[in-house]
Amino acid sequence: MKYISTRGGVSGISFSDAVMMGLATDGGLLLPQEIPEVPQEKLKAWKDLPYKGLALEVMRLFASDIPEEDLERLIEKSYSTFTHPEIVPLVKVDRVYIMELFHGPTLAFKDVALQFLGNLFEYLLSKRNKTMNILGATSGDTGSAAIHGVKGRKNMTIFILHPHKRVSPIQELQMTTVTDPNVFNLSIEGTFDDCQAIVKTIFNDLEFKERYRLGAVNSINWARVLAQVVYYVWAALKFDRPVRICVPTGNFGNIFAGYIAKKMTGLIERLILATNENDILYRFLSRGDYSVGKVVPTISPSMDIQVASNFERYLYYLYDEDPKKVKEAMEEFSKSKALKFSAEEVEKAQKDFLTGSATQEETLKTIKEIYERTGYILDPHTAVGVKVALEHLEEKIPVICLATAHPAKFPDAVKKAIGKEPPIPKTIKDLFNKERRFSVLPADTERVKEFIAKHAIS
Ligand SMILES: *Cc1c(COP(=O)(O)O)cnc(C)c1O
Repeated sequence: MKYISTRGGVSGISFSDAVMMGLATDGGLLLPQEIPEVPQEKLKAWKDLPYKGLALEVMRLFASDIPEEDLERLIEKSYSTFTHPEIVPLVKVDRVYIMELFHGPTLAFKDVALQFLGNLFEYLLSKRNKTMNILGATSGDTGSAAIHGVKGRKNMTIFILHPHKRVSPIQELQMTTVTDPNVFNLSIEGTFDDCQAIVKTIFNDLEFKERYRLGAVNSINWARVLAQVVYYVWAALKFDRPVRICVPTGNFGNIFAGYIAKKMTGLIERLILATNENDILYRFLSRGDYSVGKVVPTISPSMDIQVASNFERYLYYLYDEDPKKVKEAMEEFSKSKALKFSAEEVEKAQKDFLTGSATQEETLKTIKEIYERTGYILDPHTAVGVKVALEHLEEKIPVICLATAHPAKFPDAVKKAIGKEPPIPKTIKDLFNKERRFSVLPADTERVKEFIAKHAIS
């Protein structure tokens, strides 16, 4: 399988090169040249596979330049850190099925992709005799999942900036209790925006970036999307008829993986895109209005996003795989911060996606109602999805809601909804007694650069 850029400036590169490239060199995003359609008999055979076995079958179609036994080993290693025997168990709750994607080390769905990406980077770097220093900023979730994906890996270090004393206590512990020598938590005396601005400035210093071989683990890396495709196929194979899958959405990374799974298998009737009050994707799907609004902080913070970084990948298909059109649209978008879509385009998108959005009040109400009816506690992100999924129930179509975080990660929102905090899993309780390691630095790019220069792997 070869890879291309959504903007047409890159083509014919291998899976491994696509993973190492991250963002395409022409500013676009990388995609497989074609999406394989899996024949019926093969799908039938896949039904009996355990999760890791299915992951191998799905991924090998896209990662043909990696020897199968190596890929198998990477998958085995990546999902052995999950605490549930089924990795991503499916449970019936009320009138929907919940697929729990939160049994990885940081209790959020990002572990599914980042455990794999960390192992894959380590493998590719050692094959190429190279090293990499990963740099990123976090307001909580992604940073801790990235740290757990990279810790202890050879040939790489990770520097994650978080705002000092401004991330939730659990998220802070999940990051700072990782004391492996290749992990550097930088607690910045400033806001998340300061952290992000520092990281951006450093990445724009091309000389520094080259010298320290800086890399990123953000959600535009194709390997992250690929790891997520697997659980859509896994979920759909559990039923004897096409399913609907509802996704609490921020950057469009998770649901885009669902779109690939839909194209590959034909087992997904439609995807349901759920947003919180930051509803740019809801507006796009309901009326063709993709215009950037102001980010509103909510109780589902990992979905507080206005520019969905993976949306460009979908645009490529909406525009019938025409890279010229994508490039023009993205140039227009970077100028005007808005794209308008025709009624025909919206109609086309609606063949693949249903949509809805939930206010914070509706989200809390959903957590409360589901708890009262079933005893099951939803985290606020998952609750946004469940609220929207319940609006799209149809007879004879099973609806699966992706649970993107464990409720214990968001105890305040849960308490607000049901009057008590969710039970805290042992893995979180244990964090409170662990040694912690982090460095407090001022919100000053030069000081962060000095720190990286001193600790980077050469
Ligand atoms: C990242 C995240 C999301 C949003 O996923 P996208 O791939 O950005 O759409 C939803 N819920 C949780 C808990 C997350 O961490």
